[in-house]
Amino acid sequence: MNKIDLAIVGGGAAGMAAALYAARSNLNVVLFEGQSPGGQITLTNEVENYPGLGVENPISGPEIAMLFLNHAEKFGSKTEYTFVDSIEGTAGKFILKTSNGSWLSKAIILAPGSKAKEIGVPGERELMGLGVSTCATCDGAFFRDQEVVVIGGGNSAIEEGLFLTRFAKKVTIVHRRQEFRATPVILERAKKNEKIEWKLDCVVEKINGKNKVENVEIRNIKNNQTETFETNGVFIFIGHNPNTNFIKNTVNLDDQGYIDVNNKQETSIKGIWSAGDCSDHHYKQLITSAGDGVKAALNAIHWLEENS
Ligand code: NAP
Repeated sequence: MNKIDLAIVGGGAAGMAAALYAARSNLNVVLFEGQSPGGQITLTNEVENYPGLGVENPISGPEIAMLFLNHAEKFGSKTEYTFVDSIEGTAGKFILKTSNGSWLSKAIILAPGSKAKEIGVPGERELMGLGVSTCATCDGAFFRDQEVVVIGGGNSAIEEGLFLTRFAKKVTIVHRRQEFRATPVILERAKKNEKIEWKLDCVVEKINGKNKVENVEIRNIKNNQTETFETNGVFIFIGHNPNTNFIKNTVNLDDQGYIDVNNKQETSIKGIWSAGDCSDHHYKQLITSAGDGVKAALNAIHWLEENS
């Protein structure tokens, strides 16, 4: 069996930042990534809010992902392109099973990320990154003086809708009910904002466009009337699902499936830390994920020094 010091599960910003710090501390580190490295950031065309990057020349999410990965690998982190199926054992001797074999690792950082929920309509996947987005902070500035649609009625949709009014000339919030999950104070603020319009009891059934979003098809579920609604962008905020199903019997998850961590990124199991969107309900930014990864790595490095 392959023996390592630290297994990092998930190759998004959190995992790659953790891998960089741990490998640079001379640990034998393997980063497990089932798909292509980068995670959520690879869904963003241009990153304008990572300090120090993209100042002179634009930089894309996938480019940043490769910079992160190359940086970690420069210090000796190895990347295994395989999903981890299960984790067994205890601190000092965890066994990670994958379809490419098993690894015996002294410690683990879980960073499998989360995935924005999809509405599941035609055009959504095809136009992701071409006007369809799940991140207003990342992509809002591309819609200066344009019109966008926001889907959802929770805190994310209303807060992000408000944020988008900084750029867009009109934000139309499409929500499937009259009632909102968003807190009243946020909702009131949005209702007072003259740039925000509302389409309630409505659902988006199709997103149309050739190489960019041009319009959406909206249906009022009360009277069944449909309309084709011109828009430049569609922001979908109907919640996230953490990718934690494979570890639900390994560490404690909260009622929404996020990994329970304390302020040291420690999970319920000694020797396992967690970082990034899988344990973060609120921020979900490239830099906060990377920061969580670094915190987890520093604590894992310290623990390994004391326990090896
Ligand atoms: P959320 O609260 O679960 O709201 C999701 C919204 O999307 C709901 O309005 C829901 O409609 C709608 N929705 C779900 N599936 C849909 C579908 N298939 N088609 C159309 N609409 C759909 O998710 P969230 O807004 O991402 O928030 C997640 C958690 O983070 C919440 O606990 C929230 O309070 C918290 N949060 C807090 C803050 C803050 O405190 N500042 C900010 C952001 C998020 P229904 O209402 O009809 O189900």
